[in-house]
Amino acid sequence: MGDLVDEVEVAVLGGGPGGYSAAFRCAELGLETVVIDAAHRLGGACLFEGCIPSKALLHVASVLNEAGRAKEFGVDFGEPRISLDPLRKWKQERVVGKLARGLASVAKARGVEVIGGRGVFEDSSTLRIEAGETLRKVRFKHAIVATGSRPGGLPGLTQASERIMDSTAALDLPDIPERLLVIGGGYIGLELGTVYATLGSRVTLVEMTNGLLPGVDRDLVQPLHRRVNTLFTAIHLETRVTALREVGSEIEAALEGRGGERFDRVLVAVGRRPQSDGLGLEATRVRLTEHGRFVQVDERCRTEDPRIYAVGDITGEPMLAHRAMRQGKVAAEALAGRPAAFDNVAIPAVVFTDPEIAWCGLGEAQARDQGLPVKVGKFQWAASGRAATLGRSDGLTKVMADASSGRVLGVGIVGPGAGELIAEAALAVETAALAEDVALTIHAHPTLSESLMEAAEHLLGA
Ligand code: NAD
Repeated sequence: MGDLVDEVEVAVLGGGPGGYSAAFRCAELGLETVVIDAAHRLGGACLFEGCIPSKALLHVASVLNEAGRAKEFGVDFGEPRISLDPLRKWKQERVVGKLARGLASVAKARGVEVIGGRGVFEDSSTLRIEAGETLRKVRFKHAIVATGSRPGGLPGLTQASERIMDSTAALDLPDIPERLLVIGGGYIGLELGTVYATLGSRVTLVEMTNGLLPGVDRDLVQPLHRRVNTLFTAIHLETRVTALREVGSEIEAALEGRGGERFDRVLVAVGRRPQSDGLGLEATRVRLTEHGRFVQVDERCRTEDPRIYAVGDITGEPMLAHRAMRQGKVAAEALAGRPAAFDNVAIPAVVFTDPEIAWCGLGEAQARDQGLPVKVGKFQWAASGRAATLGRSDGLTKVMADASSGRVLGVGIVGPGAGELIAEAALAVETAALAEDVALTIHAHPTLSESLMEAAEHLLGA
């Protein structure tokens, strides 16, 4: 019997945010579309092992923190008792499962078939799908590669222990280790370090550069650093881990310049790598970048192969779900012959810690490094009525604008809710608003959103 061969207009490889956004838009545009995913479902790393489960756990951490803070105004809930089974069940079924079912029903409603299996390119118009014994082929007019990224490891360090976790394993909450070593002071190290520390672990964080969240303006990082300094047992900057060794039920870590220390578990969070290997891309004309092995795309998400597009983490930094989603829509429209380009200037970034840090567009340090003439306006939340009512006066909002035109080039925010507040800033940057536009827009009082207006006013007066 011959292979089962399907002919489709669009085959999307990978069912994460980039892939499903592309597929849904293709279907809306009337193109017959299938999604191929090894996990046999839509959602990808974001839904099953990233953004969504981590935010569910961070919500639990924030409830615990708020309950603890309530003592300040005379409300004592007592010591929390945490049951891991119901917590895991809630995260898995009520949060992740609910959203996964939602995506499956949208796919069904739009006529997008989800094919389970590993897709490998045989040439520029055929994908072989490997799923156990079954071999199926899909011939396509266009393909969109959206295979995302996976956690990167520590080169040279042995990791053959279930006590040494990547973010995927840590999100399963195998237990609450008494002593947890977090390697990497980026997004994941800080977010999951916060979760485990709030649930009761003694967390030691090791970061190889001289500050947390390298690349982010220091005045935004400072309030978070102060907070994690009290939450974590230790933070070692400019420190590398040179060896990890399982000793009985412990992991011994050699910390450069500090000697050996023992932990019950280790979380490695030192960045993610694009999943561009093993896809058969060498059988197509798709090209990878020399540095990082990302798929090269133009502003319409086209690769060097005229039939193949690529979106999301596999195409480069920043590896964020919302960038992938926008690119997915661009690729769908571009292959349908519509005028579309991924030409966004503001891609907001949010670290969902307590306090949250969010930014978009140009940072202050970045502007200075590039020698750009910018004016900076700042508003400390100590002067915000709303922040005072929340007992959270440790925030800061800053606006960067072009010194001559006044055009808003970037915004940075640290404080609770920064992740929601950054949306207005992204709109201002994307639509080339002036600092004056932001300053003269009435913002509801008392809200934290006033801080953006106040920062813009400060910039105009500066
Ligand atoms: P990251 O790039 O944010 O941070 C990695 C950190 O590890 C850096 O600070 C780096 O200096 C440090 N590091 C690297 N090698 C090290 C070593 N040997 N020893 C000690 N420190 C070392 O990476 P991440 O936290 O793993 O997250 C990966 C990506 O996932 C992020 O870049 C982001 O795109 C995405 N992500 C986003 C969110 C969000 O949007 N809230 C959350 C989690 C992850």
